[in-house]
Amino acid sequence: MKKKLLFKTGFAAVLLASVLFACTKSNQTADVKLQTTSEISASTLKSISDLGFSTTEARKVDGGYLVEGDILLTDENLTTASTSPNVRIAETEQYRTTNLVKNLPRTVTVSISNLPAVYGTATQNAIARYNALNLTLKFQFVSSGGQIQVVGFNQGPSGGYITLGSSGFPTSAGNPYSQIKMNTNAAAYGTNPNVYYLTSVLQHEIGHCIGFRHTDYFNRAYSCGGAASNEGASNVGAVHIPGTPSGADAASWMLACSNGGDRTFNANDKIALNYLY
Ligand SMILES: [Zn+2]
Repeated sequence: MKKKLLFKTGFAAVLLASVLFACTKSNQTADVKLQTTSEISASTLKSISDLGFSTTEARKVDGGYLVEGDILLTDENLTTASTSPNVRIAETEQYRTTNLVKNLPRTVTVSISNLPAVYGTATQNAIARYNALNLTLKFQFVSSGGQIQVVGFNQGPSGGYITLGSSGFPTSAGNPYSQIKMNTNAAAYGTNPNVYYLTSVLQHEIGHCIGFRHTDYFNRAYSCGGAASNEGASNVGAVHIPGTPSGADAASWMLACSNGGDRTFNANDKIALNYLY
């Protein structure tokens, strides 16, 4: 997830209120794009593009490639072709990846390490919000060794945006993605992070881990601003979830960019979660 950084005075508060759930904050300069994409080979960029993901702002990180702000594509993602017959280029609905968490009902453990206490509280809040939906997929906070591990990283703003957190998608074996990274840089959450802001970002990252794509993946400018940018179906798939709206969904927890506040599940999000899990 990302957050757009705004420097103008006057409009700043208003704009921040409508800002993005990207797990990053970023500037939109050509320099940034060139700088980040130049770290990646042409063949890998083609693989990313073939999968339907935008290569804009793609960057090499530990474990794979970060695209569209907060989505980690692993080598497995890049080399495994989608087997879903339903992949479609979407408009403004809820989308999931081809791979989902399997072996339901199931409880996935989540732990946190080397982060301030407020991140632990936020992780437990996020878990409680999922579990309150009574899905067949539940989460349990454990002190260490969770199947999803929340860790920190420190990265300053780039290109007008800052990454708030990042994660990835379920494996082909049907396990959730195993790591969520949260940015401890003060430009992300300030020096005294708001627990509900952290909670909402963790909810969002957990959503990726269990197979949710961005609600506005068809055009992340919807929540992030800037130029229109379709994230594409990619090889991880973009499968429409029945019963979710075909119109823009302003308050979805899976919008690409954060609004800087506490964004939890809206009614359509709950429909999508109940449909899958
Ligand atoms: Zn995201």
